[in-house]
Amino acid sequence: MRTRLINVGRLPPALEARLAQSYDLSTLADQADPAAYLAAHGGEFEALVTSAATGVDAAMLAALPRLRVISNFGVGLDKVDVAAAHARGIAVGYTPDVLNDCVADIAFGLMLDAARGMSAADRFVRRGDWLQGPFPLARKVSGARLGLVGLGRIGRTIAQRSTGFEMPVRYHSRRPVDGVAWVHEPSLLELARWADFLVVITAGGPATRHLVNAEVLDALGPDGFLINVARGSVIDEPALVQALADRRIAGAGLDVFEDEPRVPAALMALDNVVLLPHIASATRETRQAMADRVFDNLQSFFAEGRLVSAAPSA
Ligand code: NDP
Repeated sequence: MRTRLINVGRLPPALEARLAQSYDLSTLADQADPAAYLAAHGGEFEALVTSAATGVDAAMLAALPRLRVISNFGVGLDKVDVAAAHARGIAVGYTPDVLNDCVADIAFGLMLDAARGMSAADRFVRRGDWLQGPFPLARKVSGARLGLVGLGRIGRTIAQRSTGFEMPVRYHSRRPVDGVAWVHEPSLLELARWADFLVVITAGGPATRHLVNAEVLDALGPDGFLINVARGSVIDEPALVQALADRRIAGAGLDVFEDEPRVPAALMALDNVVLLPHIASATRETRQAMADRVFDNLQSFFAEGRLVSAAPSA
């Protein structure tokens, strides 16, 4: 008999099809009454797949008493209750590293766009404003000071890319990282004061909620740019909207928001912010690699009893 696998998230259709070939797959969203379905069938499932956007909470885990393994499509675990899973001996797999390049690329894209005004200049050309005169001068990116909030897998990849732009790099995290030449800054406020570009790439979740607040934004100052490719929760969004509207910071580039897919209307009206719909990992190549890891984590767990990429304990 094939292993029962429940999909509680939104996965690429090709991955769902591949999973359905190897497992007895049920998708919660396809059920007429998901809660009633879980109550009736929750005891059948040994495996669960989800996405970083959906995760799996303690209530869902409680409805799945025979669960042995979770495979998460994404590296962010802020919506997966890893502690509750591990407390029950449930293995948790995720997709680290395969998305480092694409998220780092988007971080640089947002830095270039926010500072050079590429999206705003595109709107300027399309409106026909060029006929009235030139686009305003922008801010140079190469050589500017890059402050990273977080120097994990993706933060390091961003730092490595900075050499081509000849940008000095400092970073803030709770612990200094061994074996790297970049300067660790124990105070986030000091990092913001120093940086021309403050790029947020920490984990999400309660520990980093509103880490970047009004005080940090004021430390970044009227010539500084904020880039967020981590999670919307890391930034106090109303404080950011106010700082952008008041020009207390120069601009921002945002891939993530507090209440996705809803973006504050006040941001839509501002020309000094670039808004992306959470696409940092969204290339065909990277999404394929993530899908492969979701599949391989399950296969490895059931064949060898261990995951390819096991989430750290919370
Ligand atoms: P890692 O776990 O490798 O790195 C996380 C970094 O955050 C570490 O440097 C860690 O350092 C730091 N950090 C964690 N908590 C705090 C804190 N309270 N204060 C300061 N720093 C902290 O993760 P990745 O680099 O692989 O990914 C980072 C995040 O990027 C993911 O968790 C995910 O949410 C987001 N992401 C967003 C994507 C998008 O589409 N926009 C795509 C992929 C990932 P330390 O523990 O020493 O504090």
